[in-house]
Amino acid sequence: MSVVEFSFPTTIRFGTGAAGEVAPQLIEAGLARPLIVTDPGVSALPIHARLAESLQSAGLAVATFDGIRSNPVIDNVSAGVGSFRDHEADCVVGLGGGAALDVAKAIALMATHPGELLDYEDEVPGARPIDHTVAPLFALPTTAGTGSEVGRSAVISDEHHIKRIIYSPHLLPRVVFADPLLTADLPAHLTAATGLDALTHNVEAYLSPHFHPMCDGIAVEGVRLCAANLESAVADGTDMEARSAMLMASMMGAVAFQKGLGLVHSCAHALGTAVDLHHGLANGLMIDHALRFNIDSAGEKMAHLATVIGLSDQSAEGFLAWLVALKRGVGVAADLSEHGLDPGLTDELVGLALADPCHANNPAPVTEADFVEVFGRAFS
Ligand SMILES: [Zn+2]
Repeated sequence: MSVVEFSFPTTIRFGTGAAGEVAPQLIEAGLARPLIVTDPGVSALPIHARLAESLQSAGLAVATFDGIRSNPVIDNVSAGVGSFRDHEADCVVGLGGGAALDVAKAIALMATHPGELLDYEDEVPGARPIDHTVAPLFALPTTAGTGSEVGRSAVISDEHHIKRIIYSPHLLPRVVFADPLLTADLPAHLTAATGLDALTHNVEAYLSPHFHPMCDGIAVEGVRLCAANLESAVADGTDMEARSAMLMASMMGAVAFQKGLGLVHSCAHALGTAVDLHHGLANGLMIDHALRFNIDSAGEKMAHLATVIGLSDQSAEGFLAWLVALKRGVGVAADLSEHGLDPGLTDELVGLALADPCHANNPAPVTEADFVEVFGRAFS
């Protein structure tokens, strides 16, 4: 498939080879001094060298900032803004997974806005406004998971490891270059973990009870794409058809979850905070155990997903059984115990999950006792 263009929710150049189009797009926009923002893992890969070379050979002055942790912190943003100024950059090109793209957004914001990053925190009384002067921002995702490239928010942790959210339509990248070749280097276990995150976004967005038929349509197709392609992408990282489908499904999940997520994400956020578990892996470990809680409130929707996937058992139980098999198929442990976590963590996890905002959008309200039950199943 050649590169195609969508203009939803922003301009997306999608297909193998899209990464080669960055230089002409920057030149057309009158930009000359890009700062590539990436993480240390990606900056060591040939995909970074190729991008930097293609920009340089087009006559652009390129610098790279790669001082990003996997759970990015405010200091990473400040350091990146320093690099932006030192380079006298005029735009930001984010290259990486959710962490790198979120930091790229925050750098583009703070390069042109006064004060401190947290002055712009979403839904905080007295927060400063974010306007159109955010530095021009472009994004190249290297994982098929968070879909941050099509999102309007940046999640950055403060010094207490609390995730703070900066939100504005101006943080949506101008152009996304979604090139499945950039995801080909991702090892199998990360392909599985990030892919399970994309699947969870689509599933939880669909199950969320709010009225949003547009998101529902996107989420259902996102689930179908994950079901048809995740195992293939994990089994053979060079399968570009599967990689393309997962990259699309991850962007669809991020668009769909404007509608809300649910209790799986509250459990995953708790595991991220308590034991620094990879976000996608945490969703994968929890998804079947947590979604069982929704069988009374959203069983019909789960049965519909079973139908869309083409399962022989087209019931909610059939859907949950498929999740169990999918986890095994992509090499993810069946539960938290099998992954080696201690049931003694339960109290802490329940407290963190209860405090997380995601479960407010779950099909049925989740109480402390419910989370005890959910984590009980996941530690069985
Ligand atoms: Zn997620």
